[in-house]
Amino acid sequence: MGKKAIIIGAGIAGLSTGIYLQMNGYDTEIFEMYALPGGLCTSWKRKEYVFNGAIHWLVGTCEEMNLHKMWDELHALDNAKIVNHNEFFRIELGDGEFFRGFADANKLEGEMLRVAPEDEEKIKELISVVKEFAKYDFPVDKAPELYGAAYGIKFLLKYKTLLKLLRKWGKISVGEYMKKFKTENMKLILSQMLGIDSRISMAILLMTLAWIHIKCAGYPLGGSLKFAKAIERRYISLGGKVHYNSKVSKIIVEKNRAVGVKLEDDNTIRGDIIISAADGHRTIFELLDGKYVNKKIKEMYENWALFPSLCQISIGVARSFDGYPHSINFSLKSPLEIDPKNKVNRMLVEIYNFDPTLAPEGKTSIIVTLPADYSYWTSMRENKKKYEESKKNLANDVIKILDEKIGKISDKIEVIDVATPVTYFRYTNNWKGSFEGWLPTPKTFSKRVKKTLPRLKNFYMVGQWVEPGGGIPTVTLSGRNLAQIICKRDGKTFRSFS
Ligand SMILES: Cc1cc2nc3c(=O)[nH]c(=O)nc-3n(C[C@H](O)[C@H](O)[C@H](O)COP(=O)(O)OP(=O)(O)OC[C@H]3O[C@@H](n4cnc5c(N)ncnc54)[C@H](O)[C@@H]3O)c2cc1C
Repeated sequence: MGKKAIIIGAGIAGLSTGIYLQMNGYDTEIFEMYALPGGLCTSWKRKEYVFNGAIHWLVGTCEEMNLHKMWDELHALDNAKIVNHNEFFRIELGDGEFFRGFADANKLEGEMLRVAPEDEEKIKELISVVKEFAKYDFPVDKAPELYGAAYGIKFLLKYKTLLKLLRKWGKISVGEYMKKFKTENMKLILSQMLGIDSRISMAILLMTLAWIHIKCAGYPLGGSLKFAKAIERRYISLGGKVHYNSKVSKIIVEKNRAVGVKLEDDNTIRGDIIISAADGHRTIFELLDGKYVNKKIKEMYENWALFPSLCQISIGVARSFDGYPHSINFSLKSPLEIDPKNKVNRMLVEIYNFDPTLAPEGKTSIIVTLPADYSYWTSMRENKKKYEESKKNLANDVIKILDEKIGKISDKIEVIDVATPVTYFRYTNNWKGSFEGWLPTPKTFSKRVKKTLPRLKNFYMVGQWVEPGGGIPTVTLSGRNLAQIICKRDGKTFRSFS
Protein backbone atom coordinates (compact mmCIF):
# COMPACT_ATOMS: atom_id res chain seq x y z
CA MET A 1 0.00 0.00 0.00
CA GLY A 2 1.37 3.43 -0.97
CA LYS A 3 1.37 6.54 1.18
CA LYS A 4 -2.03 8.01 1.84
CA ALA A 5 -2.69 11.49 0.47
CA ILE A 6 -5.70 13.52 1.54
CA ILE A 7 -6.86 16.15 -0.95
CA ILE A 8 -9.28 18.94 -0.04
CA GLY A 9 -11.52 19.85 -2.99
CA ALA A 10 -12.68 17.98 -6.10
CA GLY A 11 -12.26 20.95 -8.43
CA ILE A 12 -10.10 20.34 -11.51
CA ALA A 13 -6.86 20.90 -9.53
CA GLY A 14 -7.85 18.40 -6.82
CA LEU A 15 -8.91 15.75 -9.33
CA SER A 16 -5.75 16.23 -11.39
CA THR A 17 -3.54 15.90 -8.30
CA GLY A 18 -5.42 12.74 -7.33
CA ILE A 19 -5.04 11.21 -10.81
CA TYR A 20 -1.29 11.76 -11.04
CA LEU A 21 -0.69 10.56 -7.46
CA GLN A 22 -2.77 7.43 -8.14
CA MET A 23 -0.65 6.82 -11.27
CA ASN A 24 2.40 6.89 -9.03
CA GLY A 25 1.25 4.42 -6.42
CA TYR A 26 -0.24 6.78 -3.82
CA ASP A 27 -3.51 5.99 -2.15
CA THR A 28 -5.61 9.15 -2.36
CA GLU A 29 -8.94 10.35 -1.05
CA ILE A 30 -10.63 13.63 -1.95
CA PHE A 31 -12.99 15.45 0.42
CA GLU A 32 -15.33 17.81 -1.43
CA MET A 33 -17.85 20.07 0.30
CA TYR A 34 -20.31 20.10 -2.62
CA ALA A 35 -22.22 17.23 -4.23
CA LEU A 36 -20.45 17.27 -7.62
CA PRO A 37 -16.93 17.37 -9.10
CA GLY A 38 -15.51 20.38 -10.95
CA GLY A 39 -15.70 23.29 -8.48
CA LEU A 40 -15.87 26.42 -10.65
CA CYS A 41 -15.71 24.26 -13.76
CA THR A 42 -19.38 23.43 -13.73
CA SER A 43 -22.76 23.64 -15.48
CA TRP A 44 -26.27 23.37 -14.09
CA LYS A 45 -29.55 22.07 -15.40
CA ARG A 46 -32.79 24.02 -15.08
CA LYS A 47 -35.84 22.37 -16.63
CA GLU A 48 -34.79 21.33 -20.16
CA TYR A 49 -31.78 23.66 -20.33
CA VAL A 50 -28.16 23.27 -19.28
CA PHE A 51 -26.24 26.45 -18.43
CA ASN A 52 -22.48 26.40 -18.90
CA GLY A 53 -20.65 28.02 -15.99
CA ALA A 54 -17.00 28.12 -17.05
CA ILE A 55 -15.25 26.89 -20.22
CA HIS A 56 -15.38 29.38 -23.05
CA TRP A 57 -12.11 28.20 -24.47
CA LEU A 58 -9.85 25.43 -23.30
CA VAL A 59 -6.19 25.75 -24.21
CA GLY A 60 -4.65 22.55 -25.61
CA THR A 61 -7.63 21.17 -27.53
CA CYS A 62 -5.47 20.63 -30.65
CA GLU A 63 -3.28 17.55 -30.83
CA GLU A 64 -0.13 19.50 -31.74
CA MET A 65 0.09 21.29 -28.39
CA ASN A 66 2.08 19.86 -25.46
CA LEU A 67 -0.91 20.46 -23.20
CA HIS A 68 -2.96 18.01 -25.25
CA LYS A 69 -0.83 15.19 -23.83
CA MET A 70 -2.09 16.14 -20.37
CA TRP A 71 -5.73 16.06 -21.55
CA ASP A 72 -4.99 12.59 -22.98
CA GLU A 73 -3.52 11.41 -19.68
CA LEU A 74 -6.67 12.58 -17.90
CA HIS A 75 -9.00 11.18 -20.57
CA ALA A 76 -10.57 14.62 -20.34
CA LEU A 77 -11.47 15.02 -24.00
CA ASP A 78 -12.07 11.37 -24.96
CA ASN A 79 -14.73 11.36 -27.69
CA ALA A 80 -15.39 15.07 -27.09
CA LYS A 81 -16.33 17.15 -30.10
CA ILE A 82 -14.38 20.38 -30.14
CA VAL A 83 -15.84 23.58 -31.55
CA ASN A 84 -13.35 26.09 -32.93
CA HIS A 85 -15.30 29.25 -33.71
CA ASN A 86 -14.23 31.04 -36.88
CA GLU A 87 -15.68 34.24 -35.51
CA PHE A 88 -14.70 34.20 -31.85
CA PHE A 89 -16.53 37.34 -30.75
CA ARG A 90 -18.46 40.33 -32.06
CA ILE A 91 -18.32 43.84 -30.64
CA GLU A 92 -20.80 46.66 -31.25
CA LEU A 93 -18.81 49.80 -31.97
CA GLY A 94 -19.77 53.37 -31.01
CA ASP A 95 -21.63 54.03 -34.26
CA GLY A 96 -23.71 50.87 -34.01
CA GLU A 97 -21.51 49.05 -36.54
CA PHE A 98 -20.20 45.59 -35.57
CA PHE A 99 -16.60 44.45 -35.37
CA ARG A 100 -16.09 40.76 -36.08
CA GLY A 101 -13.39 39.15 -33.95
CA PHE A 102 -12.11 36.45 -36.29
CA ALA A 103 -10.03 33.60 -34.88
CA ASP A 104 -7.67 33.71 -37.84
CA ALA A 105 -5.11 36.44 -37.13
CA ASN A 106 -4.92 37.55 -40.80
CA LYS A 107 -8.68 38.00 -40.96
CA LEU A 108 -8.62 39.71 -37.58
CA GLU A 109 -6.01 42.15 -38.89
CA GLY A 110 -8.14 42.85 -41.97
CA GLU A 111 -11.17 43.57 -39.80
CA MET A 112 -9.17 45.86 -37.51
CA LEU A 113 -7.83 47.77 -40.50
CA ARG A 114 -11.37 48.08 -41.84
CA VAL A 115 -12.69 49.80 -38.70
CA ALA A 116 -9.52 51.67 -37.71
CA PRO A 117 -7.34 52.41 -40.78
CA GLU A 118 -5.57 55.25 -38.93
CA ASP A 119 -4.07 52.68 -36.57
CA GLU A 120 -2.49 50.60 -39.33
CA GLU A 121 1.02 50.62 -37.89
CA LYS A 122 -0.04 49.54 -34.38
CA ILE A 123 -2.53 46.95 -35.69
CA LYS A 124 0.22 45.35 -37.77
CA GLU A 125 2.50 45.30 -34.73
CA LEU A 126 -0.22 43.68 -32.62
CA ILE A 127 -0.99 40.95 -35.14
CA SER A 128 2.67 40.22 -35.85
CA VAL A 129 3.22 39.60 -32.12
CA VAL A 130 0.17 37.29 -32.03
CA LYS A 131 1.71 35.31 -34.90
CA GLU A 132 5.08 35.28 -33.13
CA PHE A 133 3.50 33.82 -29.96
CA ALA A 134 1.73 31.24 -32.12
CA LYS A 135 5.13 29.74 -33.07
CA TYR A 136 5.86 28.59 -29.53
CA ASP A 137 4.51 25.86 -27.37
CA PHE A 138 4.93 25.72 -23.63
CA PRO A 139 6.82 22.94 -21.92
CA VAL A 140 4.58 20.95 -19.59
CA ASP A 141 6.64 17.87 -18.89
CA LYS A 142 8.63 18.98 -15.87
CA ALA A 143 7.50 20.99 -12.84
CA PRO A 144 9.39 24.34 -12.80
CA GLU A 145 10.13 23.70 -9.11
CA LEU A 146 12.32 20.74 -10.20
CA TYR A 147 14.28 22.37 -13.01
CA GLY A 148 17.65 22.59 -11.22
CA ALA A 149 20.64 24.47 -12.67
CA ALA A 150 21.49 22.27 -15.68
CA TYR A 151 17.90 21.88 -16.90
CA GLY A 152 17.28 25.57 -16.13
CA ILE A 153 20.10 26.65 -18.47
CA LYS A 154 18.91 24.28 -21.20
CA PHE A 155 15.41 25.69 -20.79
CA LEU A 156 16.61 29.30 -20.96
CA LEU A 157 18.50 28.60 -24.18
CA LYS A 158 15.66 26.67 -25.81
CA TYR A 159 12.97 29.22 -24.96
CA LYS A 160 15.15 32.36 -25.21
CA THR A 161 12.92 34.14 -27.76
CA LEU A 162 9.66 33.18 -26.06
CA LEU A 163 10.96 34.36 -22.69
CA LYS A 164 11.99 37.67 -24.28
CA LEU A 165 8.48 38.08 -25.69
CA LEU A 166 6.93 37.24 -22.33
CA ARG A 167 9.18 39.72 -20.51
CA LYS A 168 8.35 42.52 -22.95
CA TRP A 169 4.59 41.96 -23.16
CA GLY A 170 4.17 40.84 -19.57
CA LYS A 171 5.19 44.30 -18.35
CA ILE A 172 2.36 46.24 -19.94
CA SER A 173 -1.35 45.97 -19.22
CA VAL A 174 -4.05 45.86 -21.90
CA GLY A 175 -5.27 49.24 -20.59
CA GLU A 176 -1.84 50.84 -21.00
CA TYR A 177 -1.28 49.35 -24.44
CA MET A 178 -4.70 50.55 -25.58
CA LYS A 179 -3.60 54.15 -25.12
CA LYS A 180 -1.04 53.75 -27.91
CA PHE A 181 -3.85 53.52 -30.47
CA LYS A 182 -5.27 56.66 -32.07
CA THR A 183 -8.80 55.51 -32.84
CA GLU A 184 -11.67 55.06 -30.41
CA ASN A 185 -12.59 51.89 -32.28
CA MET A 186 -9.29 50.13 -31.53
CA LYS A 187 -9.34 51.33 -27.91
CA LEU A 188 -12.82 49.88 -27.55
CA ILE A 189 -11.94 46.60 -29.27
CA LEU A 190 -8.91 46.06 -27.04
CA SER A 191 -10.84 46.90 -23.90
CA GLN A 192 -13.65 44.47 -24.75
CA MET A 193 -12.18 41.60 -26.76
CA LEU A 194 -12.64 38.15 -25.19
CA GLY A 195 -14.20 39.82 -22.16
CA ILE A 196 -10.68 40.31 -20.80
CA ASP A 197 -10.12 42.75 -17.91
CA SER A 198 -7.99 45.73 -19.04
CA ARG A 199 -5.75 45.39 -15.96
CA ILE A 200 -4.44 42.08 -17.31
CA SER A 201 -1.00 41.88 -18.79
CA MET A 202 -0.88 42.12 -22.61
CA ALA A 203 1.04 38.84 -22.75
CA ILE A 204 -2.11 36.98 -21.67
CA LEU A 205 -4.24 38.59 -24.38
CA LEU A 206 -1.61 37.98 -27.06
CA MET A 207 -1.11 34.33 -26.10
CA THR A 208 -4.85 33.73 -26.06
CA LEU A 209 -5.24 35.27 -29.52
CA ALA A 210 -2.33 33.10 -30.69
CA TRP A 211 -3.92 29.87 -29.40
CA ILE A 212 -7.24 30.83 -30.96
CA HIS A 213 -5.46 31.59 -34.27
CA ILE A 214 -3.90 28.09 -34.39
CA LYS A 215 -7.22 26.48 -33.35
CA CYS A 216 -5.86 25.20 -30.07
CA ALA A 217 -8.33 26.91 -27.73
CA GLY A 218 -11.62 25.23 -28.58
CA TYR A 219 -14.80 24.52 -26.68
CA PRO A 220 -15.63 20.89 -25.85
CA LEU A 221 -19.29 20.29 -26.68
CA GLY A 222 -21.36 19.50 -23.61
CA GLY A 223 -19.81 22.23 -21.47
CA SER A 224 -17.95 22.41 -18.20
CA LEU A 225 -19.58 19.78 -15.98
CA LYS A 226 -19.31 17.14 -18.69
CA PHE A 227 -15.60 17.91 -18.93
CA ALA A 228 -15.17 17.74 -15.11
CA LYS A 229 -17.07 14.46 -14.92
CA ALA A 230 -14.76 12.89 -17.52
CA ILE A 231 -11.80 13.77 -15.29
CA GLU A 232 -13.61 12.46 -12.19
CA ARG A 233 -14.23 9.16 -14.05
CA ARG A 234 -10.53 8.87 -14.79
CA TYR A 235 -9.70 9.46 -11.12
CA ILE A 236 -12.12 6.80 -9.93
CA SER A 237 -10.94 4.32 -12.59
CA LEU A 238 -7.43 4.64 -11.14
CA GLY A 239 -8.72 3.70 -7.70
CA GLY A 240 -9.25 7.18 -6.26
CA LYS A 241 -12.09 7.89 -3.83
CA VAL A 242 -14.14 11.08 -3.67
CA HIS A 243 -16.27 11.89 -0.64
CA TYR A 244 -18.91 14.45 -1.59
CA ASN A 245 -20.84 16.66 0.86
CA SER A 246 -17.73 16.42 3.07
CA LYS A 247 -16.58 19.88 4.04
CA VAL A 248 -13.19 20.15 5.71
CA SER A 249 -13.32 22.49 8.71
CA LYS A 250 -9.70 22.17 9.95
CA ILE A 251 -6.37 20.82 8.86
CA ILE A 252 -4.95 18.84 11.77
CA VAL A 253 -1.39 19.84 12.62
CA GLU A 254 0.93 18.19 15.14
CA LYS A 255 4.33 19.71 15.83
CA ASN A 256 4.13 21.81 12.64
CA ARG A 257 3.35 18.75 10.56
CA ALA A 258 0.01 18.35 8.77
CA VAL A 259 -1.35 14.93 9.68
CA GLY A 260 -5.02 14.95 8.70
CA VAL A 261 -8.26 16.82 8.25
CA LYS A 262 -11.30 17.36 10.40
CA LEU A 263 -14.68 17.43 8.67
CA GLU A 264 -17.63 19.61 9.61
CA ASP A 265 -19.36 16.58 11.12
CA ASP A 266 -16.32 16.22 13.46
CA ASN A 267 -14.97 13.12 11.75
CA THR A 268 -11.21 13.14 11.42
CA ILE A 269 -9.16 11.44 8.73
CA ARG A 270 -5.41 11.03 8.98
CA GLY A 271 -3.01 10.84 6.06
CA ASP A 272 0.71 10.89 5.21
CA ILE A 273 0.42 13.90 2.89
CA ILE A 274 -2.20 16.67 3.13
CA ILE A 275 -3.00 18.75 0.05
CA SER A 276 -5.41 21.65 -0.26
CA ALA A 277 -6.90 22.15 -3.73
CA ALA A 278 -9.47 24.48 -2.16
CA ASP A 279 -9.63 28.27 -1.93
CA GLY A 280 -6.30 29.73 -0.75
CA HIS A 281 -7.62 32.29 1.71
CA ARG A 282 -9.81 29.85 3.57
CA THR A 283 -7.06 27.21 3.60
CA ILE A 284 -4.43 29.53 5.04
CA PHE A 285 -6.49 31.75 7.33
CA GLU A 286 -9.25 29.42 8.51
CA LEU A 287 -8.37 25.76 8.05
CA LEU A 288 -4.87 26.55 9.38
CA ASP A 289 -5.88 29.55 11.54
CA GLY A 290 -3.37 31.88 9.84
CA LYS A 291 -0.48 30.26 11.73
CA TYR A 292 1.69 29.54 8.68
CA VAL A 293 2.11 32.83 6.87
CA ASN A 294 4.97 35.16 6.04
CA LYS A 295 5.25 38.71 4.72
CA LYS A 296 4.85 37.61 1.10
CA ILE A 297 1.66 35.64 1.75
CA LYS A 298 0.17 38.53 3.74
CA GLU A 299 1.13 40.95 0.95
CA MET A 300 -0.58 38.75 -1.65
CA TYR A 301 -3.83 38.44 0.23
CA GLU A 302 -3.85 42.14 1.15
CA ASN A 303 -2.80 43.73 -2.14
CA TRP A 304 -2.96 41.49 -5.19
CA ALA A 305 -5.85 42.11 -7.58
CA LEU A 306 -8.44 39.36 -8.02
CA PHE A 307 -10.62 38.30 -10.89
CA PRO A 308 -13.88 39.91 -9.75
CA SER A 309 -16.99 38.03 -8.84
CA LEU A 310 -19.92 37.81 -11.21
CA CYS A 311 -23.63 37.73 -11.71
CA GLN A 312 -24.52 35.17 -14.36
CA ILE A 313 -27.99 35.52 -15.82
CA SER A 314 -28.88 32.29 -17.61
CA ILE A 315 -31.97 32.18 -19.78
CA GLY A 316 -33.69 29.30 -21.57
CA VAL A 317 -35.44 30.57 -24.68
CA ALA A 318 -37.87 28.53 -26.81
CA ARG A 319 -36.37 29.79 -30.04
CA SER A 320 -33.43 28.97 -32.25
CA PHE A 321 -30.75 31.51 -33.09
CA ASP A 322 -29.38 30.06 -36.32
CA GLY A 323 -26.97 32.38 -38.02
CA TYR A 324 -26.49 34.58 -34.94
CA PRO A 325 -22.94 35.16 -33.65
CA HIS A 326 -22.39 33.20 -30.44
CA SER A 327 -20.69 35.95 -28.44
CA ILE A 328 -21.78 39.57 -28.78
CA ASN A 329 -20.60 42.52 -26.77
CA PHE A 330 -23.33 45.16 -26.98
CA SER A 331 -23.18 48.86 -26.29
CA LEU A 332 -26.02 50.01 -23.98
CA LYS A 333 -28.11 53.17 -24.39
CA SER A 334 -28.10 53.79 -20.66
CA PRO A 335 -25.92 52.21 -17.96
CA LEU A 336 -27.05 48.93 -16.42
CA GLU A 337 -26.66 48.89 -12.63
CA ILE A 338 -25.72 45.49 -11.20
CA ASP A 339 -25.02 46.84 -7.71
CA PRO A 340 -23.87 50.20 -6.27
CA LYS A 341 -20.23 49.49 -7.28
CA ASN A 342 -20.94 48.14 -10.75
CA LYS A 343 -22.63 50.12 -13.50
CA VAL A 344 -21.83 48.99 -17.02
CA ASN A 345 -22.21 50.57 -20.44
CA ARG A 346 -21.70 47.30 -22.26
CA MET A 347 -23.08 43.80 -21.94
CA LEU A 348 -21.64 40.48 -23.12
CA VAL A 349 -24.22 37.99 -24.38
CA GLU A 350 -23.39 34.39 -25.17
CA ILE A 351 -25.79 32.48 -27.33
CA TYR A 352 -25.15 28.73 -27.09
CA ASN A 353 -26.51 28.06 -30.57
CA PHE A 354 -23.32 26.06 -31.27
CA ASP A 355 -23.92 23.46 -28.55
CA PRO A 356 -27.07 21.47 -29.28
CA THR A 357 -26.56 19.37 -26.13
CA LEU A 358 -27.51 22.28 -23.88
CA ALA A 359 -31.12 22.77 -25.00
CA PRO A 360 -33.81 20.80 -26.83
CA GLU A 361 -34.07 21.24 -30.59
CA GLY A 362 -35.36 24.67 -31.56
CA LYS A 363 -34.51 26.11 -28.12
CA THR A 364 -31.40 27.91 -26.88
CA SER A 365 -29.44 28.60 -23.68
CA ILE A 366 -28.36 32.23 -23.40
CA ILE A 367 -25.93 33.58 -20.83
CA VAL A 368 -25.08 37.11 -19.74
CA THR A 369 -22.19 37.62 -17.30
CA LEU A 370 -21.72 40.87 -15.45
CA PRO A 371 -19.12 42.01 -12.88
CA ALA A 372 -20.55 42.10 -9.34
CA ASP A 373 -19.58 43.26 -5.87
CA TYR A 374 -19.15 40.42 -3.39
CA SER A 375 -19.81 42.51 -0.24
CA TYR A 376 -23.01 44.02 -1.59
CA TRP A 377 -24.56 40.71 -2.65
CA THR A 378 -23.45 38.96 0.54
CA SER A 379 -25.07 41.59 2.72
CA MET A 380 -28.17 41.52 0.51
CA ARG A 381 -28.44 37.75 1.05
CA GLU A 382 -29.08 38.34 4.76
CA ASN A 383 -32.57 39.37 3.75
CA LYS A 384 -33.71 36.49 1.54
CA LYS A 385 -36.72 38.38 0.15
CA LYS A 386 -34.67 41.43 -0.81
CA TYR A 387 -31.96 39.23 -2.32
CA GLU A 388 -34.47 37.36 -4.50
CA GLU A 389 -36.03 40.69 -5.54
CA SER A 390 -32.64 42.11 -6.54
CA LYS A 391 -31.92 39.03 -8.63
CA LYS A 392 -35.31 39.30 -10.31
CA ASN A 393 -34.87 43.01 -11.04
CA LEU A 394 -31.45 42.42 -12.56
CA ALA A 395 -32.79 39.60 -14.75
CA ASN A 396 -35.67 41.84 -15.90
CA ASP A 397 -33.27 44.66 -16.82
CA VAL A 398 -31.14 42.23 -18.80
CA ILE A 399 -34.14 40.75 -20.62
CA LYS A 400 -35.33 44.22 -21.62
CA ILE A 401 -31.95 44.87 -23.22
CA LEU A 402 -31.96 41.47 -24.94
CA ASP A 403 -35.43 42.14 -26.34
CA GLU A 404 -33.99 45.17 -28.04
CA LYS A 405 -30.70 43.67 -29.12
CA ILE A 406 -31.42 40.12 -30.28
CA GLY A 407 -35.12 40.26 -31.10
CA LYS A 408 -38.00 39.83 -28.68
CA ILE A 409 -37.36 36.89 -26.36
CA SER A 410 -39.41 37.89 -23.29
CA ASP A 411 -42.47 35.96 -24.51
CA LYS A 412 -40.39 32.84 -25.24
CA ILE A 413 -38.52 32.51 -21.97
CA GLU A 414 -39.00 29.15 -20.27
CA VAL A 415 -36.48 29.47 -17.46
CA ILE A 416 -34.35 32.16 -15.81
CA ASP A 417 -31.53 31.48 -13.38
CA VAL A 418 -29.45 34.15 -11.65
CA ALA A 419 -26.14 33.28 -9.99
CA THR A 420 -24.55 36.00 -7.85
CA PRO A 421 -21.24 36.26 -5.95
CA VAL A 422 -23.09 34.51 -3.09
CA THR A 423 -23.66 31.53 -5.39
CA TYR A 424 -19.99 31.30 -6.39
CA PHE A 425 -18.96 31.43 -2.75
CA ARG A 426 -21.64 29.02 -1.55
CA TYR A 427 -20.76 26.33 -4.09
CA THR A 428 -16.96 26.68 -4.23
CA ASN A 429 -15.82 28.68 -1.18
CA ASN A 430 -13.73 30.93 -3.45
CA TRP A 431 -12.52 34.05 -1.67
CA LYS A 432 -14.72 37.08 -2.39
CA GLY A 433 -16.57 34.92 -4.92
CA SER A 434 -13.67 35.34 -7.39
CA PHE A 435 -14.12 33.29 -10.54
CA GLU A 436 -10.46 32.68 -11.34
CA GLY A 437 -8.24 33.73 -8.41
CA TRP A 438 -5.35 36.16 -8.91
CA LEU A 439 -5.61 38.55 -11.84
CA PRO A 440 -2.40 38.28 -13.94
CA THR A 441 -1.50 41.99 -13.99
CA PRO A 442 1.98 43.23 -14.96
CA LYS A 443 2.78 43.08 -11.22
CA THR A 444 1.81 39.43 -10.75
CA PHE A 445 2.17 37.98 -14.25
CA SER A 446 5.60 36.45 -13.77
CA LYS A 447 5.27 35.84 -10.01
CA ARG A 448 5.58 32.29 -8.78
CA VAL A 449 3.68 31.26 -5.66
CA LYS A 450 5.02 28.43 -3.52
CA LYS A 451 2.95 25.28 -3.13
CA THR A 452 4.10 24.97 0.48
CA LEU A 453 3.60 27.19 3.53
CA PRO A 454 6.41 28.43 5.76
CA ARG A 455 7.28 26.11 8.68
CA LEU A 456 4.49 23.61 7.87
CA LYS A 457 5.69 20.15 6.93
CA ASN A 458 3.85 17.58 4.88
CA PHE A 459 1.42 20.08 3.42
CA TYR A 460 0.92 21.39 -0.13
CA MET A 461 -1.44 23.67 -2.05
CA VAL A 462 -2.51 23.39 -5.69
CA GLY A 463 -4.95 25.18 -7.98
CA GLN A 464 -5.77 28.72 -8.95
CA TRP A 465 -4.64 30.27 -5.64
CA VAL A 466 -1.03 29.19 -6.20
CA GLU A 467 -1.03 29.80 -9.96
CA PRO A 468 -1.66 33.50 -10.74
CA GLY A 469 -3.98 33.76 -13.74
CA GLY A 470 -5.83 30.53 -12.91
CA GLY A 471 -7.72 28.82 -15.72
CA ILE A 472 -8.37 25.14 -16.26
CA PRO A 473 -5.12 24.08 -18.01
CA THR A 474 -3.01 25.93 -15.44
CA VAL A 475 -4.70 24.37 -12.41
CA THR A 476 -4.58 20.91 -14.01
CA LEU A 477 -0.87 21.33 -14.59
CA SER A 478 -0.57 22.53 -11.00
CA GLY A 479 -1.76 19.08 -9.86
CA ARG A 480 0.54 17.27 -12.29
CA ASN A 481 3.51 19.36 -11.13
CA LEU A 482 2.75 18.71 -7.47
CA ALA A 483 2.62 14.96 -8.06
CA GLN A 484 6.12 15.24 -9.59
CA ILE A 485 7.37 17.22 -6.59
CA ILE A 486 5.99 14.63 -4.16
CA CYS A 487 7.47 11.74 -6.19
CA LYS A 488 10.87 13.47 -6.17
CA ARG A 489 10.64 13.99 -2.41
CA ASP A 490 9.87 10.29 -1.98
CA GLY A 491 12.66 9.16 -4.31
CA LYS A 492 10.25 7.89 -6.98
CA THR A 493 10.46 8.33 -10.74
CA PHE A 494 7.32 10.19 -11.81
CA ARG A 495 5.21 8.38 -14.36
CA SER A 496 2.16 9.42 -16.31
CA PHE A 497 0.27 7.40 -18.87
CA SER A 498 -2.65 7.77 -21.22
C1 LIG B 1 -17.68 32.15 -15.49
C2 LIG B 1 -16.35 31.48 -15.58
C3 LIG B 1 -15.70 31.40 -16.81
C4 LIG B 1 -14.47 30.76 -16.91
N1 LIG B 1 -13.92 30.59 -18.15
C5 LIG B 1 -12.81 29.84 -18.28
C6 LIG B 1 -12.34 29.49 -19.57
O1 LIG B 1 -12.93 29.82 -20.59
N2 LIG B 1 -11.19 28.76 -19.66
C7 LIG B 1 -10.49 28.35 -18.56
O2 LIG B 1 -9.46 27.69 -18.72
N3 LIG B 1 -10.92 28.69 -17.31
C8 LIG B 1 -12.07 29.40 -17.15
N4 LIG B 1 -12.54 29.70 -15.90
C9 LIG B 1 -11.69 29.49 -14.71
C10 LIG B 1 -11.60 28.06 -14.23
O3 LIG B 1 -12.89 27.48 -14.19
C11 LIG B 1 -10.96 28.02 -12.83
O4 LIG B 1 -9.75 28.76 -12.83
C12 LIG B 1 -10.63 26.59 -12.39
O5 LIG B 1 -11.73 25.72 -12.62
C13 LIG B 1 -10.26 26.59 -10.89
O6 LIG B 1 -10.02 25.27 -10.48
P1 LIG B 1 -9.48 24.91 -9.03
O7 LIG B 1 -9.56 23.43 -8.91
O8 LIG B 1 -8.16 25.57 -8.79
O9 LIG B 1 -10.48 25.61 -8.01
P2 LIG B 1 -12.04 25.41 -7.71
O10 LIG B 1 -12.77 25.15 -8.95
O11 LIG B 1 -12.44 26.55 -6.88
O12 LIG B 1 -12.10 24.08 -6.85
C14 LIG B 1 -11.95 24.06 -5.45
C15 LIG B 1 -12.83 22.97 -4.90
O13 LIG B 1 -12.62 22.88 -3.49
C16 LIG B 1 -13.88 22.71 -2.84
N5 LIG B 1 -13.72 23.20 -1.46
C17 LIG B 1 -13.47 24.47 -1.07
N6 LIG B 1 -13.37 24.53 0.28
C18 LIG B 1 -13.56 23.26 0.72
C19 LIG B 1 -13.57 22.68 2.02
N7 LIG B 1 -13.36 23.42 3.13
N8 LIG B 1 -13.80 21.36 2.12
C20 LIG B 1 -14.01 20.58 1.03
N9 LIG B 1 -14.02 21.09 -0.22
C21 LIG B 1 -13.79 22.42 -0.38
C22 LIG B 1 -14.83 23.54 -3.67
O14 LIG B 1 -16.16 23.16 -3.47
C23 LIG B 1 -14.32 23.25 -5.09
O15 LIG B 1 -14.94 22.10 -5.63
C24 LIG B 1 -13.81 30.27 -15.76
C25 LIG B 1 -14.47 30.33 -14.53
C26 LIG B 1 -15.74 30.90 -14.43
C27 LIG B 1 -16.46 30.87 -13.13
